[in-house]
Amino acid sequence: MTEQNGDFAFLPLGGTGEIGMNLNLYRLGETWLAIDCGIGFSGNDTPEAEILVPDPTFIVERRDQLAGLVITHAHEDHIGAVAHVWPLLQCPVYVTPFAGSVLRRKLGEARLLNEVPIHVIPCGGTFDVGPFNLEFIPVTHSVPEAQSVVLRTPHGIVVHTGDWKLDPEPLVGPPTDIKRLKEVGDEGVLALVCDSTNVMKPGPSQSEGEVRRSLTELIGNLKGRIAVTCFASNVARVESIAMAAQAAGRTVVLVGRSLRNLDVSARECGYLSGVLPFLNEQDVNDLPDDQVVMIITGSQGEPRSALSRISLDIHPNISLGEGDTVIYSSRMIPGNERAIMAVQDNLSRRGVRVITDREHFVHVSGHATGDDVSTMYDLVRPQFAVPVHGEWRHLTAHAALAQDKHITPILLEDGDILRLAPGKAEVVDTAPSGRLALDAGRLLPMNGGVLAARRKMLFNGMVIASFAVDDEGFVIGEPKVSAPGLLDPDDLESVRVREEFANAIDVIPDELRGDDQAFRDAAKTALRRALGRKLQKRPLVDVHVLRV
Ligand SMILES: [Zn+2]
Repeated sequence: MTEQNGDFAFLPLGGTGEIGMNLNLYRLGETWLAIDCGIGFSGNDTPEAEILVPDPTFIVERRDQLAGLVITHAHEDHIGAVAHVWPLLQCPVYVTPFAGSVLRRKLGEARLLNEVPIHVIPCGGTFDVGPFNLEFIPVTHSVPEAQSVVLRTPHGIVVHTGDWKLDPEPLVGPPTDIKRLKEVGDEGVLALVCDSTNVMKPGPSQSEGEVRRSLTELIGNLKGRIAVTCFASNVARVESIAMAAQAAGRTVVLVGRSLRNLDVSARECGYLSGVLPFLNEQDVNDLPDDQVVMIITGSQGEPRSALSRISLDIHPNISLGEGDTVIYSSRMIPGNERAIMAVQDNLSRRGVRVITDREHFVHVSGHATGDDVSTMYDLVRPQFAVPVHGEWRHLTAHAALAQDKHITPILLEDGDILRLAPGKAEVVDTAPSGRLALDAGRLLPMNGGVLAARRKMLFNGMVIASFAVDDEGFVIGEPKVSAPGLLDPDDLESVRVREEFANAIDVIPDELRGDDQAFRDAAKTALRRALGRKLQKRPLVDVHVLRV
């Protein structure tokens, strides 16, 4: 690729498309800076992988030129891949105190805590990373301490918003620092790289403060046990639920590991100081039904979550039924609808009343609406608008909004290298981009052998045959054939396949029996033939030949 000396470029490696997982790169001359490194949850099109990360190969190949990784906030789609990708990058990481607390726990679990150089930057702080002069600007979002990043370079200033919204009453942390954004706008901004998630929503953002008042009224009027599920990282919401519970004379119990982790990080950083310590789920049964509110994980229908288990009445400590209420103080993330509905259905079947944001005002989004984005352009007044973080229809709607404000939009796809300056701003090259699956702690290419095999197994099953041979390659004893996911062992078809396979390997030509690879290939062909056409499937086939 062409790497012109001394230019300033932007390269998104994740964050456009259906599954948002953010990995943004900026280049100044020969030096790279990364902003955010997140995971995404797989949709229906990739059932063989649960968690995805942006393929970092491009920057891994240039890691000597990577000055650092800056994290804008502690959401999984911005911070979740750090512990998995960092060993490939080996660069310093810059975080706010809260994101640092969340990150340290993740690194601890990955046994990396003492290896990663973490620099904690105060909210609104300025710092240098290589040749980049950076400034955090506090913004409101559905997690504490979200920051926009100002990149100052000899070629101009970029404001990278991260996830944000406008909210006069964010409850936890300060409102978006409008004054500072305007001051940066006064300096003259080359480009605004901005969140597009909710750009198609009209009107101003609704406030977290309004949600707190609504929840307080709702919880005050309910009888029986109450469980409220929300995103575990939303400290303001957890605080709102806890305060609503306290106002109703109810004690708060936390249920689920991710909420307990959040509680630790939040209190470590001075948040949640206005609410009493939470009780554990074991304490629920010591409390009268109308004196407890449970805050619980599982708003997205995750099958192993506490709420899913309660809906099936298989939770070890908690059961809900007639007269109880579950409030979903959250939204449905696209792709999770069926799983969420299934849990809600099971709860209803047990007699539990389910309240979602369709029936009652119990949730607001953490992302900027079209009106908010419009205000951001008025403040920052950039030369170029670079919409990120959204699907194509969001990015194009965002671009149209910028155009209306006489700002030139530039639409990018993952892998596009946008030269911002000097000269005309344009896409000058393409970097390889893609996704890796995060599978039991390992990063696997989506188009690699392991996942291709799993995809095939998922729909076609697999067949494994093994048999022993002597020195000369003649079969000893009976071969064994198993077909998990395809045939039961006592199925007549299994018996037929095994017998046909046994006959076929007996007649493999002698000259192939001396060479392990040739013998194995011939046996695989024999196994495929023995399976025949009757199954109308092409399973994954493997043969083990043991020389004894
Ligand atoms: Zn976020």
